[in-house]
Amino acid sequence: MNKIEHIGIAVKNMQTANLVFEKILGVSPYKEESVPSEQVNTSFFKVGDNKVELLEATGPESAIAKFLAKKGEGIHHIAFDVEDIVAEMARLKKEGFVLLNEVPKSGADNKLVCFVHPRETNGVLIELCQQI
Ligand code: ZN
Repeated sequence: MNKIEHIGIAVKNMQTANLVFEKILGVSPYKEESVPSEQVNTSFFKVGDNKVELLEATGPESAIAKFLAKKGEGIHHIAFDVEDIVAEMARLKKEGFVLLNEVPKSGADNKLVCFVHPRETNGVLIELCQQI
C-alpha cells in the first residue's frame, strides 16, 4: 500500500454536495464521471496530494443507494493506492479478508479497483486502486 488515494463520501444529491465541498475545499471538482456498471456518478476534488470522491447513486441497485438507505450520507470508503492490485488482492485474501470482486474491475478516474468486505476490516470499506 502506497498511500491513501482518496476518501469516498456517499451523497444523496451530487449537485448540492458539490457546492458544499467547493465551499469547504475552495476548489471545484476536477472531474465528474459516471460509472454505469456501478450505477454511480462520481466527482473528484483535489486537496494537495489527496482526493475526495463524492458518490451519488443512479439506480436502486447501486451499492451507494443501499448504503444511503442503511446508514445515510457520510464516509463510504477509504481507497489505498497500490502498485500491483492483483498481488495485493492475493495477499489480503491469504490473510483471510473477503474481496468483493475476485478480479480487478475498472473504476472511476482511470483505476483498477477491488473492494474489501468491511466485516473483517473493523467496519471500514477498503478500496484498493491501481492507476491504469
Ligand atoms: Zn473510491
